[in-house]
Amino acid sequence: MIAQAIENIRKELPQGVKLVAVSKFHPSEAIMEAYGAGQRCFGESRPQEFEAKAKALPEDIEWHFIGHLQTNKLKMVLPYVSMVQSVDSEHLLRAIDRWCAGAGKTVDVLLELHLGAEQTKQGFTAEEIEAVLSSAADYPNVRLRGLMGMATNTDDEGIIRGDFERISALMQHYKEKFSTFKEFNELSIGMSGDWRIAVEYGATCVRIGTSIFGERQY
Ligand SMILES: *Cc1c(COP(=O)(O)O)cnc(C)c1O
Repeated sequence: MIAQAIENIRKELPQGVKLVAVSKFHPSEAIMEAYGAGQRCFGESRPQEFEAKAKALPEDIEWHFIGHLQTNKLKMVLPYVSMVQSVDSEHLLRAIDRWCAGAGKTVDVLLELHLGAEQTKQGFTAEEIEAVLSSAADYPNVRLRGLMGMATNTDDEGIIRGDFERISALMQHYKEKFSTFKEFNELSIGMSGDWRIAVEYGATCVRIGTSIFGERQY
């Protein structure tokens, strides 16, 4: 079932759009089933759960951290990730940069834009992101790769489109304003319920959990 779900999504996903299989709250066996179907990129959102899985599972898995991250949990997460998609404050960005300097590692990060989703306060405002990009030299040990956003949790497609349109337009704006920044080109939008719409708005990465693994366990 997991393998079939991945295959169905891959068939529909345009070339060049990366699939992050969101495995949070699912056991390692489920991840290995997806792995057996050729999936190598997985997303996790809870530091402790993530660390245990990363230590136990194959080394060629590319892990993306997508959940809220507190600075006292960095050491559980950063040794294993290739990307932190959910950087939502300057405080966290600075802490990641400092950790990377100490570890001699560079990590790709996305800046999380606070979209319509009233249910969470997580994320930067557009102005804050502009300020971070203007002072990118202050974070030499991270690679600022782009934006992440979650559309409002609603059945109203118009609202979802509005959210994606806004983040997509901002992405374009930053790419033009900071055009020397060639690496800032990733737009991570779209989940199980709205990834097809996100693709229309230029998603380079979609994060899909439920449609692959079913309802979350434990
Ligand atoms: C859980 C989660 C997802 C996946 O959500 P589904 O609706 O299960 O596909 C994507 N992005 C983030 C940030 C998440 O926390």
